[in-house]
Amino acid sequence: MTGLTVGVIGAGAAGVSAVKTLRAHGVDIDIELFARNGETPHNRTLVNKGVAIGLLEPHQTNLPPIGVQTSAYTVRGIDPRIRRVHLDSGNNRAFDALIVATGSRPRPLDDTIVGRDQALSAGRLTTLHSLTDAIRVRDLLATADPARVLFLGGGLVASETASLLTDAGHNTVLIARSALPGASAIGDDAARQLLDLHRHHHAVHLGRDVCAIRTHADHITVVLDDDTKVEGDLAIVAHGTLPAAPAPWTGPGGIAVDNRLRTLSAPDQRIYAAGGVAVHHYPGRSSYRIDHWDDATAQGAHAAKTLLHDLGHGDDPGAYLPASTFSARIHGRTLTGAGHPALASYTRVISSEPLVVGHCLGDDLVALTGIDVTAAVRQWVSRLHAAHRSELSDAQAGRR
Ligand SMILES: Cc1cc2nc3c(=O)[nH]c(=O)nc-3n(C[C@H](O)[C@H](O)[C@H](O)COP(=O)(O)OP(=O)(O)OC[C@H]3O[C@@H](n4cnc5c(N)ncnc54)[C@H](O)[C@@H]3O)c2cc1C
Repeated sequence: MTGLTVGVIGAGAAGVSAVKTLRAHGVDIDIELFARNGETPHNRTLVNKGVAIGLLEPHQTNLPPIGVQTSAYTVRGIDPRIRRVHLDSGNNRAFDALIVATGSRPRPLDDTIVGRDQALSAGRLTTLHSLTDAIRVRDLLATADPARVLFLGGGLVASETASLLTDAGHNTVLIARSALPGASAIGDDAARQLLDLHRHHHAVHLGRDVCAIRTHADHITVVLDDDTKVEGDLAIVAHGTLPAAPAPWTGPGGIAVDNRLRTLSAPDQRIYAAGGVAVHHYPGRSSYRIDHWDDATAQGAHAAKTLLHDLGHGDDPGAYLPASTFSARIHGRTLTGAGHPALASYTRVISSEPLVVGHCLGDDLVALTGIDVTAAVRQWVSRLHAAHRSELSDAQAGRR
């Protein structure tokens, strides 16, 4: 019996993975997992692909039990000096080590947009991040068949959900600030192919800001900065995410970590952060955050291994580097990525049809994207974060 206690805050991808890794190691540690008040730990990726489109009931997205004490208490704050966790209930507890895995929250629509709050109160403007959001979307879709659904944003969640709703017979419209939506997350080449797909299936307004939203008895009108007026039954805000952390990290900056996922603001305090809440620094690049399920799972495991090492159990896991895959099914095509394309300073098109792109920084391959080439992308994953300039050139020249 070690007598050690570890608190894991957040019961999503990163938190559950951290718990599983701690338990698999075989060290006798008391683990307490914290989830938000009233929330059953669930798989967030099914919010749009399952519940919003009426394919799954909310309870069907629940994660399987993992055999540790799970307390449904929102953590309000942490005192890093003594690793004391302050709960919503007014109680507090101290631990020998903490892993913060509280994920992200949706970036809201700018509050300067005229009519935003009326549309929100009428239930015709929503984010799509939680099960509550998904139920709101599902219920509104049921009132209009087909429904006119406007997506404010053009990232992966917007693209994937627009595709699902188009398939279900609804009329979707994508409204994006960027002239090439998704380019910052997946690179120009893949974003261009996805944009062609969107244009083929539904209306798209690019390079446009929303100025106002007018709420009528049975629909809304979204007014764009070129005075275009787009009518819809529902608008879904999909402007990406911000980290969601308890105090003292409640600002938009998230929790900065070192390359072992130890929090930088409380060095040597055995407090770690993983998943959508963690802010990393890549050598030679600025700070970055990744909000994909498999990467959050990898980070949770990595943070747990660092924690065990810091407590004298197990090897140093080395530096965390993003190498997990992600994918999205969009208008019948499958986008697959690995690593974090935003870390790259240039790209190499390995193959143009089907598309496979290497994202590079200096001599290193740091990420990959491709369309309908899941196996090819996976083949390259083991070579991420290492110098592969010549291999990429060979592949480009068709010699591999
Ligand atoms: C609609 C949608 C679809 C997505 N689809 C995909 C996909 O297809 N593929 C993919 O790779 N990624 C997808 N993602 C992203 C993926 O879900 C996230 O990257 C992943 O869930 C991040 O894992 P996490 O553990 O950091 O956060 P989460 O899985 O969100 O878990 C965080 C947990 O912490 C809890 N929590 C937060 N604050 C507190 C607190 N103060 N106290 C206690 N508990 C707290 C939350 O309630 C939540 O349960 C999608 C996201 C959305 C919104």
